[in-house]
Amino acid sequence: MDAAEFRRRGKEMVDYVADYLENIEKRPVYPDLEPGYLRSLIPNEAPLEPESYEDIIKDVERVIMPGVTHWHSPYFFAYFPAASSYPAMVADMLCGAIGCIGFSWAASPACTELETVMLDWLGKMLQLPECFIAGTHGRGGGVIQGTASEATLISLLAARCKAVRRVQTINAKKSESEILSKLVAYTSDQAHSSVERAALIGAVMMRKVPTDNRYAVRREMLKKMVEEDKAAGLIPFYFCATLGTTPSCAFDHLTELGPLCNEENMWMHIDAAYAGSAFICPEFRPLLNGVEFADSFNFNPHKWLLVNFDCSAMWVKERADIIGHWQIPLGRRFRSLKMWFVFRMYGLKGLQAHIRKQVALAKEFESLVRADKRFEICAEVVLGLVCFRLKGSNELNQELLKRITKSREIHLVPCQLSGRFVLRFAICARTTESHHIQQAWQPVIKKNAGKGVVHSDP
Ligand code: PLP
Repeated sequence: MDAAEFRRRGKEMVDYVADYLENIEKRPVYPDLEPGYLRSLIPNEAPLEPESYEDIIKDVERVIMPGVTHWHSPYFFAYFPAASSYPAMVADMLCGAIGCIGFSWAASPACTELETVMLDWLGKMLQLPECFIAGTHGRGGGVIQGTASEATLISLLAARCKAVRRVQTINAKKSESEILSKLVAYTSDQAHSSVERAALIGAVMMRKVPTDNRYAVRREMLKKMVEEDKAAGLIPFYFCATLGTTPSCAFDHLTELGPLCNEENMWMHIDAAYAGSAFICPEFRPLLNGVEFADSFNFNPHKWLLVNFDCSAMWVKERADIIGHWQIPLGRRFRSLKMWFVFRMYGLKGLQAHIRKQVALAKEFESLVRADKRFEICAEVVLGLVCFRLKGSNELNQELLKRITKSREIHLVPCQLSGRFVLRFAICARTTESHHIQQAWQPVIKKNAGKGVVHSDP
Protein backbone atom coordinates (compact mmCIF):
# COMPACT_ATOMS: atom_id res chain seq x y z
CA MET A 1 0.00 0.00 0.00
CA ASP A 2 1.57 3.28 -1.07
CA ALA A 3 0.51 6.75 0.08
CA ALA A 4 -2.00 7.12 -2.78
CA GLU A 5 -3.71 3.85 -1.91
CA PHE A 6 -3.56 4.68 1.79
CA ARG A 7 -5.48 7.92 1.12
CA ARG A 8 -8.17 5.97 -0.74
CA ARG A 9 -8.39 3.00 1.62
CA GLY A 10 -8.19 5.19 4.70
CA LYS A 11 -11.22 7.19 3.54
CA GLU A 12 -13.08 3.98 2.77
CA MET A 13 -12.26 2.68 6.25
CA VAL A 14 -13.55 5.85 7.88
CA ASP A 15 -16.82 5.31 5.99
CA TYR A 16 -16.91 1.66 7.03
CA VAL A 17 -16.37 2.60 10.68
CA ALA A 18 -19.04 5.34 10.60
CA ASP A 19 -21.51 2.95 8.93
CA TYR A 20 -20.69 0.22 11.43
CA LEU A 21 -21.28 2.48 14.41
CA GLU A 22 -24.37 4.18 12.98
CA ASN A 23 -26.04 0.85 12.25
CA ILE A 24 -24.64 -1.21 15.10
CA GLU A 25 -27.97 -1.69 16.85
CA LYS A 26 -29.26 -3.72 13.90
CA ARG A 27 -26.66 -6.40 14.66
CA PRO A 28 -27.30 -8.98 17.42
CA VAL A 29 -25.30 -7.62 20.34
CA TYR A 30 -23.85 -11.03 21.21
CA PRO A 31 -22.51 -13.57 18.68
CA ASP A 32 -24.25 -16.85 17.94
CA LEU A 33 -21.21 -19.11 17.65
CA GLU A 34 -19.37 -21.97 19.25
CA PRO A 35 -15.77 -21.58 20.50
CA GLY A 36 -13.25 -22.36 17.76
CA TYR A 37 -15.51 -20.99 14.99
CA LEU A 38 -12.78 -18.95 13.31
CA ARG A 39 -10.02 -21.44 12.50
CA SER A 40 -11.95 -23.15 9.74
CA LEU A 41 -12.75 -19.81 8.07
CA ILE A 42 -9.17 -18.80 7.28
CA PRO A 43 -6.09 -20.67 5.96
CA ASN A 44 -3.79 -22.51 8.32
CA GLU A 45 -0.77 -20.47 7.28
CA ALA A 46 0.04 -16.87 6.40
CA PRO A 47 -0.01 -16.24 2.62
CA LEU A 48 3.26 -16.52 0.73
CA GLU A 49 2.23 -13.99 -1.91
CA PRO A 50 0.60 -10.62 -1.15
CA GLU A 51 -3.19 -10.55 -1.23
CA SER A 52 -5.44 -7.70 -2.31
CA TYR A 53 -7.00 -5.20 0.07
CA GLU A 54 -10.45 -6.04 -1.37
CA ASP A 55 -10.05 -9.65 -0.29
CA ILE A 56 -9.13 -8.66 3.24
CA ILE A 57 -12.04 -6.26 3.58
CA LYS A 58 -14.47 -8.92 2.33
CA ASP A 59 -13.23 -11.20 5.10
CA VAL A 60 -13.94 -8.60 7.77
CA GLU A 61 -17.68 -9.20 7.34
CA ARG A 62 -17.28 -12.95 6.68
CA VAL A 63 -14.79 -13.87 9.42
CA ILE A 64 -14.59 -11.11 12.01
CA MET A 65 -17.97 -9.44 12.42
CA PRO A 66 -19.91 -12.66 13.13
CA GLY A 67 -17.59 -13.21 16.09
CA VAL A 68 -17.73 -9.69 17.53
CA THR A 69 -19.52 -8.87 20.78
CA HIS A 70 -20.69 -5.37 19.97
CA TRP A 71 -19.56 -3.37 22.97
CA HIS A 72 -20.76 -0.15 21.39
CA SER A 73 -24.28 -1.34 20.67
CA PRO A 74 -26.86 0.60 22.69
CA TYR A 75 -28.09 -2.83 23.80
CA PHE A 76 -24.79 -3.75 25.43
CA PHE A 77 -25.13 -3.55 29.24
CA ALA A 78 -22.41 -5.97 30.36
CA TYR A 79 -19.26 -5.42 32.48
CA PHE A 80 -18.52 -1.69 32.59
CA PRO A 81 -18.39 0.66 29.59
CA ALA A 82 -15.50 0.74 27.13
CA ALA A 83 -15.18 4.36 26.09
CA SER A 84 -15.60 5.29 22.45
CA SER A 85 -15.76 8.61 20.65
CA TYR A 86 -14.87 9.90 17.20
CA PRO A 87 -12.29 12.46 18.42
CA ALA A 88 -10.44 9.67 20.26
CA MET A 89 -10.47 7.43 17.19
CA VAL A 90 -9.12 10.20 14.97
CA ALA A 91 -6.40 11.00 17.52
CA ASP A 92 -5.50 7.30 17.64
CA MET A 93 -4.85 7.40 13.90
CA LEU A 94 -2.43 10.25 14.41
CA CYS A 95 -0.80 8.37 17.29
CA GLY A 96 -0.28 5.43 14.94
CA ALA A 97 1.20 7.68 12.28
CA ILE A 98 3.66 9.42 14.61
CA GLY A 99 4.42 5.95 15.95
CA CYS A 100 6.97 7.06 18.50
CA ILE A 101 8.09 4.88 21.40
CA GLY A 102 8.07 7.54 24.09
CA PHE A 103 10.24 5.99 26.78
CA SER A 104 12.13 9.19 27.56
CA TRP A 105 11.74 12.92 26.99
CA ALA A 106 14.25 12.86 24.13
CA ALA A 107 12.49 9.89 22.48
CA SER A 108 9.65 12.30 21.70
CA PRO A 109 9.35 15.47 23.78
CA ALA A 110 5.74 16.16 22.73
CA CYS A 111 4.69 12.68 23.87
CA THR A 112 6.19 13.16 27.34
CA GLU A 113 5.11 16.76 27.80
CA LEU A 114 1.54 16.48 26.50
CA GLU A 115 0.96 13.52 28.79
CA THR A 116 2.09 15.46 31.85
CA VAL A 117 -0.11 18.41 30.97
CA MET A 118 -3.15 16.25 30.12
CA LEU A 119 -2.89 14.50 33.48
CA ASP A 120 -2.82 17.95 35.09
CA TRP A 121 -5.92 19.03 33.10
CA LEU A 122 -7.72 15.86 34.12
CA GLY A 123 -6.54 16.11 37.73
CA LYS A 124 -7.96 19.64 37.87
CA MET A 125 -11.28 18.45 36.37
CA LEU A 126 -11.46 15.99 39.28
CA GLN A 127 -10.40 18.68 41.75
CA LEU A 128 -7.53 16.52 42.96
CA PRO A 129 -5.51 18.12 45.74
CA GLU A 130 -2.66 20.25 44.36
CA CYS A 131 -0.07 17.78 45.65
CA PHE A 132 -1.06 15.38 42.83
CA ILE A 133 -0.66 17.96 40.06
CA ALA A 134 2.74 18.18 38.35
CA GLY A 135 2.63 21.86 37.35
CA THR A 136 2.50 23.06 40.97
CA HIS A 137 4.90 23.34 43.91
CA GLY A 138 3.89 19.80 44.94
CA ARG A 139 6.02 16.73 44.34
CA GLY A 140 3.34 14.66 42.63
CA GLY A 141 2.11 14.12 39.12
CA GLY A 142 0.29 11.87 36.74
CA VAL A 143 1.14 9.20 34.19
CA ILE A 144 -0.90 7.19 31.69
CA GLN A 145 -0.92 3.44 32.24
CA GLY A 146 -2.42 0.83 29.95
CA THR A 147 -4.87 -0.51 32.52
CA ALA A 148 -6.00 -0.15 36.12
CA SER A 149 -4.37 -3.51 36.81
CA GLU A 150 -0.95 -2.06 35.90
CA ALA A 151 -1.55 1.01 38.05
CA THR A 152 -2.36 -1.17 41.06
CA LEU A 153 0.74 -3.29 40.50
CA ILE A 154 2.96 -0.24 40.17
CA SER A 155 1.59 1.28 43.36
CA LEU A 156 2.12 -1.98 45.22
CA LEU A 157 5.72 -2.31 43.99
CA ALA A 158 6.46 1.29 44.97
CA ALA A 159 4.90 0.74 48.40
CA ARG A 160 6.94 -2.43 48.84
CA CYS A 161 10.22 -0.62 48.10
CA LYS A 162 9.30 2.18 50.46
CA ALA A 163 8.38 -0.24 53.26
CA VAL A 164 11.66 -2.16 52.90
CA ARG A 165 13.64 1.10 53.02
CA ARG A 166 11.70 2.27 56.08
CA VAL A 167 12.28 -0.93 58.04
CA GLN A 168 15.97 -0.97 57.11
CA THR A 169 16.36 2.62 58.31
CA ILE A 170 15.26 1.44 61.75
CA ASN A 171 17.05 -1.90 61.62
CA ALA A 172 19.86 -1.99 59.05
CA LYS A 173 20.63 -5.65 59.77
CA LYS A 174 17.28 -6.91 58.45
CA SER A 175 17.65 -8.42 55.00
CA GLU A 176 15.27 -7.50 52.21
CA SER A 177 13.98 -11.07 51.93
CA GLU A 178 13.28 -11.21 55.66
CA ILE A 179 11.28 -7.98 55.45
CA LEU A 180 9.40 -9.05 52.31
CA SER A 181 8.23 -12.23 54.00
CA LYS A 182 6.57 -10.12 56.71
CA LEU A 183 4.87 -7.51 54.54
CA VAL A 184 1.10 -7.67 54.37
CA ALA A 185 -1.26 -5.80 52.04
CA TYR A 186 -5.04 -5.34 52.35
CA THR A 187 -7.97 -4.80 50.09
CA SER A 188 -11.74 -5.22 50.14
CA ASP A 189 -13.39 -8.59 49.68
CA GLN A 190 -15.17 -6.82 46.79
CA ALA A 191 -11.94 -5.62 45.11
CA HIS A 192 -11.18 -6.48 41.50
CA SER A 193 -9.15 -9.66 40.94
CA SER A 194 -6.29 -7.53 39.57
CA VAL A 195 -5.55 -6.33 43.13
CA GLU A 196 -4.96 -9.85 44.38
CA ARG A 197 -2.89 -10.51 41.24
CA ALA A 198 -0.69 -7.50 42.03
CA ALA A 199 0.13 -9.06 45.42
CA LEU A 200 0.91 -12.37 43.76
CA ILE A 201 3.30 -10.71 41.31
CA GLY A 202 4.77 -8.55 44.08
CA ALA A 203 5.22 -11.71 46.19
CA VAL A 204 3.59 -10.26 49.28
CA MET A 205 0.72 -11.49 51.44
CA MET A 206 -2.67 -9.91 50.83
CA ARG A 207 -5.65 -10.07 53.16
CA LYS A 208 -9.24 -9.40 52.14
CA VAL A 209 -11.10 -7.03 54.43
CA PRO A 210 -14.77 -7.92 55.00
CA THR A 211 -17.24 -5.26 53.90
CA ASP A 212 -20.37 -3.84 55.53
CA ASN A 213 -23.96 -4.33 54.34
CA ARG A 214 -23.34 -1.78 51.56
CA TYR A 215 -20.24 -3.69 50.34
CA ALA A 216 -17.87 -1.00 51.63
CA VAL A 217 -14.76 -1.27 53.81
CA ARG A 218 -14.99 0.67 57.08
CA ARG A 219 -12.17 1.80 59.36
CA GLU A 220 -12.88 -0.64 62.20
CA MET A 221 -12.73 -3.67 59.92
CA LEU A 222 -9.33 -2.73 58.53
CA LYS A 223 -8.00 -1.61 61.91
CA LYS A 224 -8.85 -4.95 63.50
CA MET A 225 -6.90 -6.87 60.85
CA VAL A 226 -3.93 -4.52 61.03
CA GLU A 227 -3.77 -4.89 64.82
CA GLU A 228 -3.95 -8.67 64.58
CA ASP A 229 -1.17 -8.78 62.00
CA LYS A 230 1.12 -6.44 63.91
CA ALA A 231 0.64 -8.59 67.03
CA ALA A 232 1.70 -11.59 64.92
CA GLY A 233 4.94 -9.83 63.91
CA LEU A 234 3.83 -8.89 60.40
CA ILE A 235 4.32 -5.49 58.74
CA PRO A 236 1.14 -3.93 57.28
CA PHE A 237 2.32 -1.72 54.38
CA TYR A 238 -0.39 -1.25 51.72
CA PHE A 239 -4.14 -0.83 51.38
CA CYS A 240 -5.95 -0.69 48.05
CA ALA A 241 -9.30 1.08 48.45
CA THR A 242 -11.97 0.74 45.79
CA LEU A 243 -14.28 3.51 44.68
CA GLY A 244 -16.92 1.84 42.55
CA THR A 245 -16.45 -1.91 43.05
CA THR A 246 -16.90 -4.17 40.05
CA PRO A 247 -19.84 -6.22 41.37
CA SER A 248 -22.03 -3.42 42.74
CA CYS A 249 -20.26 -0.03 42.43
CA ALA A 250 -19.74 0.30 46.20
CA PHE A 251 -17.46 2.94 47.72
CA ASP A 252 -14.97 2.29 50.51
CA HIS A 253 -15.00 4.99 53.21
CA LEU A 254 -11.87 6.94 52.34
CA THR A 255 -12.29 9.59 55.00
CA GLU A 256 -12.19 6.86 57.68
CA LEU A 257 -9.59 4.64 56.02
CA GLY A 258 -7.17 7.31 54.83
CA PRO A 259 -6.21 8.61 58.30
CA LEU A 260 -5.77 5.02 59.51
CA CYS A 261 -3.41 4.25 56.62
CA ASN A 262 -1.45 7.43 57.32
CA GLU A 263 -1.19 6.60 61.06
CA GLU A 264 0.02 3.07 60.27
CA ASN A 265 2.50 4.14 57.57
CA MET A 266 0.55 2.15 55.00
CA TRP A 267 0.47 3.25 51.36
CA MET A 268 -3.12 3.91 50.30
CA HIS A 269 -3.87 3.34 46.63
CA ILE A 270 -7.33 4.12 45.26
CA ASP A 271 -8.74 2.02 42.44
CA ALA A 272 -11.63 3.97 40.91
CA ALA A 273 -11.36 2.25 37.51
CA TYR A 274 -14.97 2.85 36.49
CA ALA A 275 -16.37 5.41 38.91
CA GLY A 276 -13.49 7.88 38.65
CA SER A 277 -14.86 9.54 35.54
CA ALA A 278 -17.97 10.64 37.44
CA PHE A 279 -15.89 12.77 39.82
CA ILE A 280 -15.65 15.48 37.15
CA CYS A 281 -19.27 16.30 38.12
CA PRO A 282 -19.48 18.39 41.31
CA GLU A 283 -22.47 16.35 42.54
CA PHE A 284 -20.39 13.12 42.48
CA ARG A 285 -17.09 14.65 43.64
CA PRO A 286 -17.87 14.06 47.37
CA LEU A 287 -17.42 10.34 46.66
CA LEU A 288 -13.72 11.12 46.22
CA ASN A 289 -13.39 12.98 49.53
CA GLY A 290 -10.45 11.54 51.44
CA VAL A 291 -8.24 11.31 48.34
CA GLU A 292 -5.95 13.75 50.14
CA PHE A 293 -4.85 10.85 52.38
CA ALA A 294 -3.93 8.64 49.41
CA ASP A 295 -0.45 8.02 48.03
CA SER A 296 -1.78 7.10 44.59
CA PHE A 297 -5.06 7.30 42.71
CA ASN A 298 -6.15 5.70 39.45
CA PHE A 299 -9.15 5.53 37.14
CA ASN A 300 -9.79 4.59 33.53
CA PRO A 301 -10.81 7.36 31.11
CA HIS A 302 -11.01 4.39 28.73
CA LYS A 303 -14.03 3.18 30.64
CA TRP A 304 -16.33 6.15 31.00
CA LEU A 305 -14.64 9.33 29.76
CA LEU A 306 -14.92 8.82 26.00
CA VAL A 307 -11.19 8.12 25.49
CA ASN A 308 -10.90 4.83 23.62
CA PHE A 309 -8.91 1.97 25.16
CA ASP A 310 -6.18 2.13 26.35
CA CYS A 311 -5.89 5.06 28.71
CA SER A 312 -5.69 4.58 32.46
CA ALA A 313 -4.83 7.71 34.45
CA MET A 314 -2.68 7.40 37.56
CA TRP A 315 -1.49 10.09 39.97
CA VAL A 316 1.00 9.89 42.81
CA LYS A 317 1.64 12.31 45.63
CA GLU A 318 5.42 11.80 45.50
CA ARG A 319 6.89 11.31 42.05
CA ALA A 320 10.09 10.11 43.69
CA ASP A 321 8.27 7.07 45.08
CA ILE A 322 7.56 5.63 41.67
CA ILE A 323 10.42 6.99 39.57
CA GLY A 324 11.82 3.46 39.29
CA HIS A 325 8.36 2.05 38.45
CA TRP A 326 6.60 4.67 36.30
CA GLN A 327 5.34 1.78 34.19
CA ILE A 328 5.96 -1.89 33.44
CA PRO A 329 6.91 -1.73 29.72
CA LEU A 330 9.71 0.43 28.35
CA GLY A 331 7.76 1.65 25.33
CA ARG A 332 4.85 4.08 25.53
CA ARG A 333 2.34 5.08 22.87
CA PHE A 334 1.36 8.71 22.38
CA ARG A 335 -1.91 8.08 24.24
CA SER A 336 -2.31 11.61 25.54
CA LEU A 337 -3.29 12.72 22.02
CA LYS A 338 -6.61 10.94 22.53
CA MET A 339 -7.21 12.87 25.75
CA TRP A 340 -6.25 16.17 24.14
CA PHE A 341 -8.67 15.71 21.24
CA VAL A 342 -11.52 14.46 23.46
CA PHE A 343 -11.14 17.10 26.18
CA ARG A 344 -11.04 19.89 23.59
CA MET A 345 -13.91 18.66 21.44
CA TYR A 346 -16.27 17.87 24.33
CA GLY A 347 -15.12 20.42 26.89
CA LEU A 348 -15.67 19.72 30.56
CA LYS A 349 -19.38 20.51 30.09
CA GLY A 350 -19.77 17.94 27.32
CA LEU A 351 -18.05 15.27 29.40
CA GLN A 352 -20.20 16.06 32.42
CA ALA A 353 -23.33 15.86 30.23
CA HIS A 354 -22.26 12.37 29.07
CA ILE A 355 -21.85 11.12 32.67
CA ARG A 356 -25.11 12.70 33.85
CA LYS A 357 -27.08 11.28 30.95
CA GLN A 358 -25.82 7.77 31.65
CA VAL A 359 -26.56 8.03 35.37
CA ALA A 360 -30.10 9.19 34.51
CA LEU A 361 -30.53 6.17 32.20
CA ALA A 362 -29.48 3.85 35.03
CA LYS A 363 -32.08 5.51 37.29
CA GLU A 364 -34.66 4.99 34.56
CA PHE A 365 -33.88 1.27 34.45
CA GLU A 366 -33.95 1.14 38.25
CA SER A 367 -37.50 2.60 38.19
CA LEU A 368 -38.62 -0.11 35.76
CA VAL A 369 -37.25 -2.79 38.08
CA ARG A 370 -38.77 -1.23 41.20
CA ALA A 371 -42.18 -0.95 39.55
CA ASP A 372 -42.31 -4.73 39.00
CA LYS A 373 -42.89 -6.47 42.29
CA ARG A 374 -41.35 -9.74 41.08
CA PHE A 375 -37.91 -8.10 41.02
CA GLU A 376 -35.66 -6.50 43.60
CA ILE A 377 -32.79 -4.00 43.49
CA CYS A 378 -29.72 -5.49 45.21
CA ALA A 379 -27.45 -2.48 45.78
CA GLU A 380 -27.85 1.29 45.85
CA VAL A 381 -27.77 2.76 42.34
CA VAL A 382 -25.19 5.55 42.67
CA LEU A 383 -23.85 5.84 39.11
CA GLY A 384 -24.53 3.88 35.92
CA LEU A 385 -24.86 0.35 37.32
CA VAL A 386 -28.08 -1.38 38.39
CA CYS A 387 -27.82 -4.69 40.28
CA PHE A 388 -31.13 -6.54 40.29
CA ARG A 389 -32.66 -10.00 40.46
CA LEU A 390 -35.91 -11.88 40.53
CA LYS A 391 -37.09 -12.46 44.08
CA GLY A 392 -36.39 -16.15 44.50
CA SER A 393 -33.64 -18.70 44.12
CA ASN A 394 -30.26 -18.37 42.44
CA GLU A 395 -31.33 -21.07 39.95
CA LEU A 396 -34.31 -18.96 38.91
CA ASN A 397 -32.04 -16.01 38.18
CA GLN A 398 -29.45 -18.15 36.39
CA GLU A 399 -32.22 -19.44 34.15
CA LEU A 400 -33.43 -15.91 33.46
CA LEU A 401 -29.97 -14.73 32.46
CA LYS A 402 -29.49 -17.78 30.25
CA ARG A 403 -32.66 -16.93 28.38
CA ILE A 404 -31.80 -13.25 28.05
CA THR A 405 -28.34 -14.11 26.68
CA LYS A 406 -29.84 -16.61 24.24
CA SER A 407 -32.26 -13.98 22.92
CA ARG A 408 -29.27 -11.82 21.89
CA GLU A 409 -31.47 -8.73 22.26
CA ILE A 410 -29.39 -7.34 25.11
CA HIS A 411 -26.18 -8.44 26.77
CA LEU A 412 -25.75 -8.62 30.57
CA VAL A 413 -23.33 -10.37 32.93
CA PRO A 414 -24.00 -11.56 36.49
CA CYS A 415 -22.24 -11.06 39.80
CA GLN A 416 -22.40 -12.58 43.27
CA LEU A 417 -23.55 -10.38 46.13
CA SER A 418 -23.74 -11.95 49.60
CA GLY A 419 -23.95 -15.39 47.99
CA ARG A 420 -26.80 -14.37 45.72
CA PHE A 421 -26.77 -14.57 41.93
CA VAL A 422 -27.43 -11.03 40.71
CA LEU A 423 -27.82 -9.51 37.23
CA ARG A 424 -25.71 -6.43 36.49
CA PHE A 425 -27.14 -3.83 34.12
CA ALA A 426 -24.46 -1.23 33.29
CA ILE A 427 -25.11 1.70 30.97
CA CYS A 428 -22.30 1.32 28.47
CA ALA A 429 -22.63 2.68 24.94
CA ARG A 430 -22.33 6.40 24.29
CA THR A 431 -25.40 6.17 22.06
CA THR A 432 -27.76 4.46 24.52
CA GLU A 433 -30.98 6.48 24.84
CA SER A 434 -34.14 6.22 26.92
CA HIS A 435 -35.97 4.18 24.25
CA HIS A 436 -33.16 1.59 24.36
CA ILE A 437 -33.67 1.26 28.12
CA GLN A 438 -37.41 0.75 27.67
CA GLN A 439 -36.68 -1.78 24.93
CA ALA A 440 -34.04 -3.52 27.07
CA TRP A 441 -36.59 -4.19 29.80
CA GLN A 442 -38.73 -6.24 27.38
CA PRO A 443 -36.46 -9.30 27.09
CA VAL A 444 -36.04 -9.28 30.88
CA ILE A 445 -39.78 -9.61 31.50
CA LYS A 446 -40.50 -11.69 28.37
CA LYS A 447 -37.80 -14.24 29.14
CA ASN A 448 -39.13 -14.36 32.66
CA ALA A 449 -42.50 -15.68 31.46
CA GLY A 450 -41.37 -19.16 30.39
CA LYS A 451 -41.29 -22.56 31.98
CA GLY A 452 -39.68 -22.77 35.40
CA VAL A 453 -39.60 -19.03 35.86
CA VAL A 454 -42.21 -16.81 37.55
CA HIS A 455 -45.38 -16.60 35.40
CA SER A 456 -47.40 -13.64 36.62
CA ASP A 457 -47.34 -10.42 34.63
CA PRO A 458 -46.37 -7.19 36.33
N1 PLP B 1 -10.68 -2.26 39.10
C1 PLP B 1 -12.02 -2.21 39.01
C2 PLP B 1 -12.82 -1.68 40.17
C3 PLP B 1 -12.65 -2.65 37.84
O1 PLP B 1 -14.00 -2.61 37.75
C4 PLP B 1 -11.87 -3.15 36.77
C5 PLP B 1 -12.51 -3.61 35.53
O2 PLP B 1 -13.67 -3.50 35.31
C6 PLP B 1 -10.48 -3.18 36.92
C7 PLP B 1 -9.92 -2.73 38.10
C8 PLP B 1 -9.59 -3.69 35.85
O3 PLP B 1 -9.44 -2.71 34.87
P1 PLP B 1 -8.32 -2.84 33.75
O4 PLP B 1 -8.87 -3.73 32.69
O5 PLP B 1 -8.10 -1.44 33.26
O6 PLP B 1 -7.10 -3.43 34.37
